[in-house]
This record gives sequence, structure tokens and C-alpha cells, in this order.
Amino acid sequence: MQITTDFLILGSGIAGLSFALRAQTYGHVVVVTKREASEAATSWAQGGVAAVLSPEDSFEKHVEDTMVAGAGLCHQVVVDICAREAPEAIQWLAETGARFSRDGDGQYELGREGGHSERRIVHAGDISGREIERALLDAVRASPNITLLEWHMGVDLITLSKFGGPDQCVGAYVLDERAGQVKTILSRATVLATGGAGKVYLYTSNPDVATGDGVAMAFRAGAEVANMEFYQFHPTVLYEPRAKSFLVSEALRGEGAVLRTLTGEAFMARHHALSDLAPRDVVARAIDYEMKRSGSEHVLLDISGRPADFVRSRFPNIHAECMRFGIDMTREPIPVVPAAHYMCGGVTSDLHGRTTLPGLWAIGETACTGLHGANRLASNSLLEGLVFARRAVERLVGQLEELRAAPHPSVPEWQTGSAAPSDEAVVVSHNWDELRRLMWNYVGIVRSDARLRRAGRRVALLEEEIREYYWRHLVTRDLLELRNIATVAQLIIASAASRQESRGLHFTIDHEATLDSWAQDTVVKRGVSAHLRGR
Ligand SMILES: Cc1cc2nc3c(=O)[nH]c(=O)nc-3n(C[C@H](O)[C@H](O)[C@H](O)COP(=O)(O)OP(=O)(O)OC[C@H]3O[C@@H](n4cnc5c(N)ncnc54)[C@H](O)[C@@H]3O)c2cc1C
Repeated sequence: MQITTDFLILGSGIAGLSFALRAQTYGHVVVVTKREASEAATSWAQGGVAAVLSPEDSFEKHVEDTMVAGAGLCHQVVVDICAREAPEAIQWLAETGARFSRDGDGQYELGREGGHSERRIVHAGDISGREIERALLDAVRASPNITLLEWHMGVDLITLSKFGGPDQCVGAYVLDERAGQVKTILSRATVLATGGAGKVYLYTSNPDVATGDGVAMAFRAGAEVANMEFYQFHPTVLYEPRAKSFLVSEALRGEGAVLRTLTGEAFMARHHALSDLAPRDVVARAIDYEMKRSGSEHVLLDISGRPADFVRSRFPNIHAECMRFGIDMTREPIPVVPAAHYMCGGVTSDLHGRTTLPGLWAIGETACTGLHGANRLASNSLLEGLVFARRAVERLVGQLEELRAAPHPSVPEWQTGSAAPSDEAVVVSHNWDELRRLMWNYVGIVRSDARLRRAGRRVALLEEEIREYYWRHLVTRDLLELRNIATVAQLIIASAASRQESRGLHFTIDHEATLDSWAQDTVVKRGVSAHLRGR
């Protein structure tokens, strides 16, 4: 089955939906998303969106905070753009229907988070992402020019070389999970907005959909991928075996919560001058250190020093979730552990979301724009999705007539060949477990040359086994995701092994110093091993 459209977007988080809404006035849009549309990291965001909106704040301060967190790798031009375009992005979201928390005067109530020198987090209580996703989805569903296909998963990008020129992306093969059929979708512009890859690690704050599909698809199609060694670990995910990846927002520390060992000792002052407001990589490493030192499986986050009414009204969602497990955060500390949270690297994209593969755009967490550098400042990622969705559409509409001038190319339908239905689902689930555990143990918060070598060897074997299984069996979502996390794991390992220094989120005990000569991006491409590239 073949579908043709102007804009094909893979992913229905903040980046994909914003792009769809901005693009719908110019052409027809198809959004494919692999589960229900609201299943996206966006829906899980608690903190909010960073934007300079108070008179005490300035663009320069937002830029400075972002650059400091990024540990020398942020692209200043991108940081400037995001800081300056943030207020417009917030206004657009509000006009689209997002209801943010306001004070008695009707002004946005601005929160503060770790690494930010001012209050600048626009939020909707502590369910900011859920509210943003609701507003965007309502608007998308009301648009006659947008077709939203749920339970449709991008399998691979379709590339063609026209007249012997370089490869070009002309659409994607997409698995319609309910029909068990792979469809061919041809488009003038294909946009990856597939989010992050937290599921590559055993512990993650991310939803199940975060399997790095966009990065893996782009890499297979020949696009460049950058800075994959910089995976951010959120310091504080609820430590409760019955809870599924529940994040305890950094906004708690912004409002005075203190990290303590199990014996009640506050420990962050020993690790950083900003104490509990230190950047999150420092906090995650400090917790990792304290857990290893004491042999404990978690630490404690204590906000019981603030008035109970304030805690309940500022963090109603976190309070309710903790209460579900019998933890009353107004009176006792919350048990927490670090978990894989945010992919700072991704598909290399320029100031207008263009990747190195013509016809392919990447926005949101799946892209590497240069905003985050070696470490992301909290609440800059929703912002990045908004800003780059707009910039990509603005540039693309100018080219649309030209793109429409040629007919869609003719491409082969998806071939199943002699592939059989998956006979041993256990192979898939076993490999999932092994990969994620391996990544956690060897390629996690603290790395070493030997651990990376070991991980590299084992993942290569697993990847071979998965590839063989993939070609012999009909595709399913589980199998496709497994194939993608294996590719992403290899990209993380290769990038980490090539960076022989510690910087931002990449910390290795064999090269603890940060070296000026290494202040460059790590890039990797199919057939070209990971290497540094100056800017
Ligand atoms: C718990 C949590 C809290 C966070 N809090 C904040 C915060 O307060 N502020 C902030 O700025 N950031 C926060 N972040 C990060 C932020 O939420 C994400 O970076 C951002 O939402 C990413 O948006 P996105 O549109 O790029 O991807 P997502 O929102 O993750 O959406 C990706 C979409 O792609 C779909 N998809 C994936 N693969 C495929 C495929 N192969 N085919 C089709 N569809 C596919 C998914 O189903 C999903 O719909 C948080 C993240 C988490 C997990």
C-alpha cells in the first residue's frame, strides 16, 4: 500500500506535533506514531519549558547557564537562537491552548531548576508535558490537513539516488501494527521526531517508546550522527520496584529539597559549590559515588523542611504518586536513584533542522543541533523541539513549490521475501534484557576503557545475532526496537571510546581531565568510524 504526502513526520511528541501544526497551512501532513499519540516523553515532562520572561532575567543569562552546563561543546549560535526565540515559542503554545500556571496577577508563575541562575521555567503545575501534549494533540486532531496514524511505526527510511547524484530521502516504510502490513509513505520532506533512547539502559525515566528509532534509521540511511556519548542520567527517579520509571523532578531541589544518605547526612556540598542545585551530571555522579561508597541501593531526597501545604500544591502529581506507595513526602524523604534520561547527541541537524541526508529533517530529542553540547540544561529540551519545529517549517515552505514540481518517485513496495513469523519471542526478550543490563553496567554514569572494550565486543555479537534474526523473520515492533537499540548502543560505545577525556556527561576513570584540544563534536556515519570534528 502506498501513501503520498507533502510532509511525513515520524513521532507525536512536542517536536513532531509542533512541526505538523506549523506546516499544515502549507501542505498535507501525515504524522505516524508507533503507539497511541500521547505516548511520548513529552507527556511525562514535569518541570516545564525554559524562557526568559521576568524582568530580572536576560537572554545573556539563559545563554550563559546553557553554555556552562554544556561544558564547552554548545554551539553558541544555536544557544542564542533558542534563548531569543523561547518567549515566542511559549506564546505560540499558549495560543495553541496550553494552560500554564499563573500567579495572582495573571503572569506566568516561573519555576527555578538546577543550573538556572534565574526563575525561568514556565510550567503547568508538575504535569507540564501532559498539558502541552494535550493542547497540541487537540489542535492536531482538529486540523483537516493532518492525518494522524497511531500504531504505525517507521521501519526504515527510503533513499534514492537521482541521476547518479547523492542519496536522497523520499519517505519511509512504516509498519501498520494492527494490520500487520508495511506501508510505503512517500513525501516531499521526511521529518524524524522520534525522541530519545532511554530504553537502551536498564534504568530509565523514559517511556517504552524511547528506543532511538530515529537515530538508528538515519544512521542506516547514511546520515551523520553526533555526540552520542553524552547520555544524561537523571539523578532522581523514584526507587520503588512497583513504580514504573517515575521521575522526581529537579524542581524539588529548586524549591529547597536536600539529598541525603540513608543515615540522613546531606552530601551535595561535598561534591559541588552549588550543592543541591549543581548541574544534573554532577548530582548523578555524586549519588552514584555515595551509593557505591555505602553499598546502598538508593539515596534520599528530602523536602520535608518546606511547609506541607506548599509541597502538596506545588507538586501535586509527585505527592500523589509517592502516596500511592505509602511515602508522604511532606513528612519523610523520598527514596531515589539515577536513571538514563536524555540523549544529548543525535542526528546532526543544522539551524533549520536539515540533516546531512537531503530530504531528511530531524527535530527534538532525536536531533543533535548543538544546543546541549556535552550536557543539557534542565527544561531546554522541550524548548529546542518548539524552536526547531518552527525554524524547519519556515525554511521548508520556501522550497515547497520546487519540491512539488517533480512527481513522487516510483519505489519498490516492502518485500517480505521468505521471512517467517517470529518463532521464538524469547530470543528477542532475552536480547533486550542483556543489552540494557550491559549498557547500564559498562557504559553508564562512570566509564573506563576496559568496560567500553568489553561492552563493544558483546554488543557486536548481540547485534550480529539480532541482524540474522531480523532478516529471517517478519518484522514486529519488538524486533524492530531491539534492532534499533542495538544500533544505538553501538553508536554510544563507539563515540564514548573515541573520546579520551572526561567532559560533561561523559566521565571515564582512565581519562579524568577535560582537554581543550577535545572541545569538538564526535561524529559518526555508516562506514566512517567515530571521530572528532571541529566547528
Ligand atoms: C520523565 C521526563 C521528564 C522530563 N521533564 C522535562 C522538562 O521538564 N522539561 C524539558 O524541557 N524536558 C523534559 N524532559 C525531556 C523532554 O520531555 C523530551 O526531551 C522531549 O519531550 C522530547 O520531545 P520529542 O518530541 O523530541 O520526543 P517525544 O516526546 O519522546 O516523542 C517521540 C515520539 O516518537 C514516536 N516514535 C518513536 N519511534 C517511532 C517510530 N519508529 N515510528 C513512529 N513513531 C515513533 C513515539 O511514539 C513518540 O510519539 C523530560 C523527559 C522525561 C522522560
